[in-house]
Amino acid sequence: MFCPRCGRAEQMPETYCRQCGLFLPDLSKPLKRTSPPEEHLKANTVLSILTIVASLTLSLLLFIVLGFKPETHPLIYPTAGILLAMCGWHIQTLIRTQMLMKQWKRRTPLKEVQAHETTTAFKSAPTAEMLNPADFTDAIPASVTEHTTRHLAETPRQKSR
Ligand SMILES: [Zn+2]
Repeated sequence: MFCPRCGRAEQMPETYCRQCGLFLPDLSKPLKRTSPPEEHLKANTVLSILTIVASLTLSLLLFIVLGFKPETHPLIYPTAGILLAMCGWHIQTLIRTQMLMKQWKRRTPLKEVQAHETTTAFKSAPTAEMLNPADFTDAIPASVTEHTTRHLAETPRQKSR
């Protein structure tokens, strides 16, 4: 592929241009979508609730069904205790996740922060016009542009034979 900034050919996608250092994304691959923090927080909440319910039921079952009998193996007690501790640990994780979710909802959205920064930083600029950021979603895919110059170079040689 070619570098869109300096035009140097024979470049590897997903690396930096060997001439000007621009990062060249692999355009044949679909753009990665990163999940927003809200989704991670929601997943954390669900997983914490599941762990609390599972560890609490298991430890109670161990104590009620197997515990406090003459034939009870001594290892039953630390196992049930660890399960109870796990339940407590996940209860505090759940509380912290809920607090984080509240804080996250109250924050200033990133777009507003960026808009504020742009308006204050470029107030004294002689012109308000700025270049748009590069749009790699609308570029010609590497499969179309790859090896085109090599084919052009080979064509006259084949004719002269
Ligand atoms: Zn370049």
